[in-house]
This record gives sequence, structure tokens and C-alpha cells, in this order.
Amino acid sequence: MAAFPSDLAIAKGATLQPLVDVAASMGIGEHLVTPYGREVAKIELGAIDELADRPRAKYVVVSAITPTPLGEGKTTTTVGLGQAMRHIGKRATVAVRQPSMGPTFGIKGGAAGGGYSQVVPMETLNLHLTGDFHAVTEAHNMLSAILDNHLFQGNALDIDQHDITWRRVLDVNDRVLRNVVVGLGSRVDGVPRQTGFDITAASEVMAIFALARSVPEMRERLGRIVVAYDRSGKPVTAEDIGGAGAMAVIMRDALRPNLLQTLENTPVLVHAGPFGNIAHGNSSVVADLIGIHAGDFLITEAGFGADMGAERFFNIKCRASGLTPDAAVVVTTVRALKAHSGRHRIVAGKPLPEALFAENPDEVHAGGANLRKQIENIRLHGVSPVVAINAFPGDHPSEHAAIAEIAASMGARSAVCTHFADGGRGATELAEAVAEAAEEPSDFHFLYPDEAPLREKIETIATRVYGADGVDYDLSASRQIDSYERNGFGHLPVCIAKTHLSISSDASLKGAPTGWRLPVREVRASVGAGFIYPICGDMRTMPGLGASPAAHRIDLDANGEIVNLS
Ligand code: ADP
Ligand code: MG
Repeated sequence: MAAFPSDLAIAKGATLQPLVDVAASMGIGEHLVTPYGREVAKIELGAIDELADRPRAKYVVVSAITPTPLGEGKTTTTVGLGQAMRHIGKRATVAVRQPSMGPTFGIKGGAAGGGYSQVVPMETLNLHLTGDFHAVTEAHNMLSAILDNHLFQGNALDIDQHDITWRRVLDVNDRVLRNVVVGLGSRVDGVPRQTGFDITAASEVMAIFALARSVPEMRERLGRIVVAYDRSGKPVTAEDIGGAGAMAVIMRDALRPNLLQTLENTPVLVHAGPFGNIAHGNSSVVADLIGIHAGDFLITEAGFGADMGAERFFNIKCRASGLTPDAAVVVTTVRALKAHSGRHRIVAGKPLPEALFAENPDEVHAGGANLRKQIENIRLHGVSPVVAINAFPGDHPSEHAAIAEIAASMGARSAVCTHFADGGRGATELAEAVAEAAEEPSDFHFLYPDEAPLREKIETIATRVYGADGVDYDLSASRQIDSYERNGFGHLPVCIAKTHLSISSDASLKGAPTGWRLPVREVRASVGAGFIYPICGDMRTMPGLGASPAAHRIDLDANGEIVNLS
């Protein structure tokens, strides 16, 4: 048997359509399409109003069971499902995040989907695209520079140097930047202080850019960023130090979504890339405000498992956009459910254990608690779940049947899909199931009201979504919550930062852990983005590289073509 071609080889064989034609298939006129080269364009925000009278598409969010460190195929399935819609006579738009170059050159590799379900050109998508991440980095660091200059110029706002929350960012996995000292040298070199770098995807500017509905609203949100507290404990904002206008200028062009296409010419809006663990992990609101009137279906991916990205999609992104979802896909794999049985350990960068490939439907059932809980997590929000059984080479039909049985026992639709190997035609059954689910009356609701106190919001997510018995707060976390409520931030939704490798806050607990309590160590506020984020366990906002990062293998060949980017 010939080896299955690499993602890059498949992507290079694609026949791309001119982007004006792709945009036209969404009902978007040429005057709203600004080409960035031949294969990528930006869509002007005027499209939101111009399309507003068109029929509303069904809005579908693609989530997953708790993944292994390898990912279970949400992006691939989002793309495959988008492609499949055409095979059942429907027009779909796909909306995904732009990948961060840190993980691309670290463990994960690219994030354009895979096999015959990819966004193309995948090299452009996985690398700089149209420079939106660069804009976020620049806008963020512009504010850092203005803040340090404020201290240097006499600190008129009496900022407490020990209570500065704004750091710097770069789009790279570089652990040595986690803690740095700036301002070394002489008096003219600034005020020395300890600070650090986060990865660009973790920047609050990224979250703002993903949640804003318009340029003026983005400008307001940038102004609300809290950069520090003064010596009386009062928040100091980006507006207060005169940084928000410059940031908005740097970000203006980035707010226009990027249009690409799939291997089968389905339109794809690629826009924003907020981190999935400490931020809300969803692509942009503006892309969805366009896509929601651009066809029969708008299919968007939410990062990590349903306890993470989908919960934030429902309670943070939909709050910001005002859009309501019609169905949710829960991507499930045999390998991940087997790992949830607790009998196999899947470690990034290491070969998969041989025993994982033995036919063993009982082991799939043994890990089934995770799928059941994630189905429930979708239903908690009044949305119909559809289980996508993402078929991998080496799976056995009996194991797919086991997943279908678990879904059926929960009264959820399911479909085996082979879009990785077969493109859109491999996911037509999934597309039919999604279309049926989306026709059911939606009872979508937020999990908690705005006015609930912050502790109640945290406890609602911890107990109802994560299955915890309760929440324990460190003293400092408790004080932070009190101070946020005193400062008028209590109405914000919460974005709980925890591991994505378990529904609990302990990455080693598989399945659907019970009998545990959520430990909140620290609480931070992203006031501009509009959420409070409690931190549970050790969360890294600047990843490091492993012993054998993808960066060691990615290269140019003799013809100047990229190799080993997948
Ligand atoms: P996620 O978005 O959930 O993190 P991705 O769609 O990026 O997952 O998939 C993770 C990796 O697994 C990618 O390298 C992708 O190409 C690969 N993959 C996904 N689905 C399949 C499949 N059915 N068969 C083989 N490889 C797959
Ligand atoms: Mg993905």
C-alpha cells in the first residue's frame, strides 16, 4: 500500500479558486474583498451590515472529548464538516483560529486540519498569514513601553511598582523569557523592575481582538485594560496612561477577518488565536458576524474539550456576539477514549503505545465516562450534541460501534467520519446528523447570569461542568475576588484557567473525575476582554520547547520549499 501523502503534499496539490469567487459564494461582493496576495484576502467589516438582511445560517460549534496531547481532530473535523455540507447540498462557511507559531514550531505542528480536510495554503496559515499576530504583539508591547515610560517620566498616576499586571509578549515558545528584569543600566535606561513575557496568544489584546464586534468597540475595550494598580489599590487602565489610541491604530487592519478556503473550496474565515487554557480559545466574533449571514451553516471550532473551549464559547463568546448556537459537534476518537480508560498513557513527542492499536471495544467503553460528561456539558447550555467519530487508521469497526453505543445511551446522534482520508464525502453522514440536530428547537442559555457573584459563577462551572464537589480558594485568590467586586468587575463572566488534559484541574485524572475540589490559586482580571480568570494549578502563559521540537525538522529544501510542516 502506498504511504498516505503528507499534509503539505496534499495541500500543494489543491486547486484553489480565486478568492473573489469564494467570497461571492458567501454573498460577499468584490468591493469588500481586499487581496493579500493571491491566496488570502481580508474581508472588510462593512460586510457585517451588508449581509445583515440575508437569512441567518445555522450556527454549529465543534468541540471534543478531553483530548490527548496530540489533539483529536477538531480542526480537521471542522474543515471536513464544512466540506461535507456541499455534498449534501448546503452552503457552509468555516471559522477557525489562526495558529500560534510557538506551538507550530514546538510540539503541535500546524493547525490547518489534516489529510483531505485542510485549510489552504497551509504554509501561509501556519506562519505569518496577514500579520495579525504581529499586530497583537506590537500593540501589546506598545502599551508596555508606554507603561514603563510613565514610570520613567515621574509616575504621575502613583502606580505601585509591585502591582503591575501588564507584561510583554512574543509569538514563540521561549521559557527563558518567563521572568526578566527590564530597565537595567543607568538612570536614562528606565526604572528597573522584574517582569516577563507571555506568548502572543495569551495577550489580552488577542482576546479583545477576538471578542470585539466593531472597531469602536475594540478601541473601548483596549482602553479598559487594567495595566497596574496605584498605591491606594485603584486600577490604572490603558486609557489612563494614554496607550489605547495607539494600540487601536496598530490593530485596526487586523480586525478584518482573513478569507482562505479548504481543499474543496469551502470558504474559511481564519481570525484571531486566543489561548485555549488561560483565554477563551475561540476565533473572532467579527468573523462569525459575517459568516452567520453567508450561507446555510457557519461551523466554528472551540479549543480543547467541551469543558474548556465550548463552555467559553457559550458563556463568553456568545455573550459578546449575541449569537446563539444551533448544534454542537463533540469530536471523539478511539485512541482518546482508550486513554481515558486509564490503561494507556499518551505522551507528546513519544511513539503511541503498541497496545493502543489492539482491537478492544471494552476499553473504549471503559473510557466512555468522558464522552458522556462532555455530551452533558453541551446539553447544560440547551444545545443538541452530535458525536463525530473521527476515524483513524488502525481503528476497528467494533470500537467505532462502541462509541456509537455510548452516544446512543445518552440519546445523542453520532456518525463515523473519514474526512481525513476522503475529504468532505467522508463526513456526509455527520453533516446530515448536524443538519437534523440544528433543526431541533434551540433552548440555548448561559450557565449563569451576569449578576451572579464571581464565586457563584466559578462554583457553577466547577460543579456542573467539571464535576467537582466544590471550590477551595487560596487566601490571596479570595482577596483578589473581593477587590475585583469592589472595583466593579463582578458582573464579568469567568474564564477558568486549568489543564485541558482532564475535566478536572489535575492532568493525570482521566475519564470524568469525581470526589475532588477545584483549587483556585490566584485570580486575574482581563477587564478589556471582559472576563475574570481564576487560575487552577500550574498554568504556563509562556510555553517552552521540548527536547525535540518541530523546529529541528522544519526546513527549506533545495528548491526553497518548506518541508516537515504538518
Ligand atoms: P485539534 O484541532 O482537536 O487539536 P487537529 O484537527 O489539529 O486537532 O488534529 C490533530 C492532529 O491529528 C493533526 O496532525 C491532524 O492532521 C491529525 N488527525 C486528525 N484527524 C485524523 C485522522 N482521522 N486520521 C489521521 N490523523 C488525523
Ligand atoms: Mg484545532
